Amino acid sequence: MISPDSKLLLEIRGLRASINSIEILKGVDLTVRSGEVHAIMGINGSGKSTLAKVLAGHAAYEVTGGTVLFEGSNLFDLAPEERARAGVFLAFQYPIEIPGVANNQFLRLTYNTVQTHRGKDELDPLEFDDFVREKMKMLEMSPDFLDRSVNAGFSGGEKKRNEILQMALLEPHLSILDETDSGLDIDALRIVANGVNQLATKDSATILVTHYQRLLNYIVPDYVHVMEAGRIIKTGGKQLAVDLESHGYDWVSAEQRAAARI
Ligand code: ADP
Ligand code: MG
Repeated sequence: MISPDSKLLLEIRGLRASINSIEILKGVDLTVRSGEVHAIMGINGSGKSTLAKVLAGHAAYEVTGGTVLFEGSNLFDLAPEERARAGVFLAFQYPIEIPGVANNQFLRLTYNTVQTHRGKDELDPLEFDDFVREKMKMLEMSPDFLDRSVNAGFSGGEKKRNEILQMALLEPHLSILDETDSGLDIDALRIVANGVNQLATKDSATILVTHYQRLLNYIVPDYVHVMEAGRIIKTGGKQLAVDLESHGYDWVSAEQRAAARI
């Protein structure tokens, strides 16, 4: 859904980040404009989740170099919760369980916090209940999930749907979905992908971190990036994901090595 009046949303230049003094991100460059869908692919351990968590503001990672502008401002000036209020959303690869916190209260409080930040009215519990049930219908989620603790005892697929439910409620400007397809059977994958597609707007953008091409049959990316050893080593269109599926990742690395020798 790229339009000529798309805006620069995210500008990552030379991003380096470490955990426990081990450098994981070694110079990531990525530009995302509104209306775009970007897929980031790559073998396990290449740094995809690290990139997602650094953008969201995970406290365990230290940014050691480079810059990230979000809507023109330094993202790293914002605390994690300020990033969330500003419209950065991360759907976790491994959503955590929060026993004792009711899902409906968690969802309503996060929703109202973002609404207030946007200068809009909060919803009271009854109003919110109607609103959230509509969103759950889109994701074919049972309302029973509202009364349970956040993610507690949810199956892998149910946790992933609950993440997308948060995305549906918060209407982020930038959504980063980290392996949202993993653990989903084919029906759930289709439902979640339809949800993500319905939520796409010309003013927002999505970064899909995924291992497999199958998700990209349902959510068609404008750009596909290959990450290796903490850097984006190749960028292409949607065909790149198809090529990766049939040939694996090795040929991209080999191509890079060959180019480096020239
Ligand atoms: P991906 O999502 O692409 O599979 P990750 O970003 O999760 O990759 O991990 C990138 C690398 O960072 C891996 O080699 C992983 O072992 C390493 N890593 C992650 N957390 C830690 C940690 N706490 N200490 C040391 N290394 C870590
Ligand atoms: Mg990962």
